Amino acid sequence: MTLKEFPARSFRSGFVAFVGRPNVGKSTLVNQLVGQKVAITSPVAQTTRNRLRAILTTPDAQLVILDTPGIHKPHHLLGERLVQSARSSIGEVDVVLLMFEGFKLPGKGDEFIVRLLQNQKVPVVVALNKWDLASRANQDNIEDSYQKLLSNSDWPIYRCSATTGDGCDSLIAELVNYLPLGPQLYPSEMVCDQPERVLLADLIREQVLLHTREEIPHSVAVRIERIEEMSPGKEASSKAPSTAILATVFVERKSQKGILIGKGGAMLKTIGHGARLQMQKLIDGPVYLELFVKVVIDWRSKPSRLNELGYEGN
Ligand code: GDP
Ligand code: MG
Repeated sequence: MTLKEFPARSFRSGFVAFVGRPNVGKSTLVNQLVGQKVAITSPVAQTTRNRLRAILTTPDAQLVILDTPGIHKPHHLLGERLVQSARSSIGEVDVVLLMFEGFKLPGKGDEFIVRLLQNQKVPVVVALNKWDLASRANQDNIEDSYQKLLSNSDWPIYRCSATTGDGCDSLIAELVNYLPLGPQLYPSEMVCDQPERVLLADLIREQVLLHTREEIPHSVAVRIERIEEMSPGKEASSKAPSTAILATVFVERKSQKGILIGKGGAMLKTIGHGARLQMQKLIDGPVYLELFVKVVIDWRSKPSRLNELGYEGN
């Protein structure tokens, strides 16, 4: 009999929410832990919209990770829904991983999140992420400041880097301590519970944010219209079937449409090229991508539009 048929009796499984201000590295850490790009990351804050469950299976535990949108002050209906979704995640999990940008001293927004979590019963583990950016001279000072900020709680503090992976193993081991004993909930090879459509749409949105920066704020949504598998042609060098993907990028204003398309279509080409490369990695085969841009005035403030695009209110 193999070990696999007799899982350890101490196997643990449960839910972890990654919580923190926008841009602290939540999505990057999700990808680092599951070893694949399931969450979109961006130097532009506030990019995680859909609730995503990433799944990490180790020999003795399975963690289901909720990558929550950053907690911040809502400005639009969309902002409010993002914050609601982060807050409601906290109530559903076995443990919260509270992340900070560990190369900076804590600020006002950090206090807000700490207070929010102190009012909940959920156990919290703290990660000072981006430790690779903390200068040696400052490290002790930074850690002291966070210890002070968290002095009313007994939350353990870990240093880590989501980009290099340093410190991540001990962090996982600590999180597993808070999970209840229980069976594996998902197959070991599954790293994400979102349908491929959502991941593909997010890869396009990521490229839009990456290449347009502030010019197209957050008023962009992407819908995958069609995914078609085509069998490889006779002369094809690769045996893998190609995938044709048709997608619409929604913006709020005509001027934004102009920026997205760019001079002679140059911007849309760059976005499409970047997204296609990422999609090929995800799908593991050649991809043809066709993008359309459509203007829907003020979609962010229209509940019906938001629902249609998958941002459901709770
Ligand atoms: P989120 O808003 O909390 O999900 O943050 P993201 O995961 O999108 O990351 C925001 C930015 O910080 C991206 O540009 C990441 O590459 C960068 N980043 C995240 N973690 C680290 C880290 O540990 N070290 C460094 N140097 N950069 C990081
Ligand atoms: Mg994110």
